[in-house]
Amino acid sequence: MSVEEPCVDHGQKGNGFGYGKKTYKGKQIGAHIVALIEATGEERNGRLALHSCDNPRCINPKHLRWGTHSDNMRDRSERRRSRGGVLVGERNGKSKLSTADVQRIRDLYVPGRTLQKDLAQQFGVSKVQICRILKGSRRSVA
Ligand SMILES: [Zn+2]
Repeated sequence: MSVEEPCVDHGQKGNGFGYGKKTYKGKQIGAHIVALIEATGEERNGRLALHSCDNPRCINPKHLRWGTHSDNMRDRSERRRSRGGVLVGERNGKSKLSTADVQRIRDLYVPGRTLQKDLAQQFGVSKVQICRILKGSRRSVA
């Protein structure tokens, strides 16, 4: 994926996932799919237009490539692994916990009452990280 190329928004409201729509040969399909058809000159042939930028709103053909459903699934699990095995939700995956988060985790944790698993979910980190924080080790180890 090219980092220099910014994402191009389709400029529509988008559906629940953020995908835009475009009419192609009389059918409404994803705006990103049309962008890729136009850029590659290839027909869709049942394939998916995959985003290398993970941005469903993006129609920059440089961020798109043809793939199958299983490619898509593999992409997702690879990305998830690179984020330390957790789904990070709002976090962009690069951000570690802030000092304030660490403090809050320590404040929130009541031994025997708070589950580390719940804290991990709440802060979008792994249970191991929570465990380390509670043991007082520096967050840089995570
Ligand atoms: Zn993009």
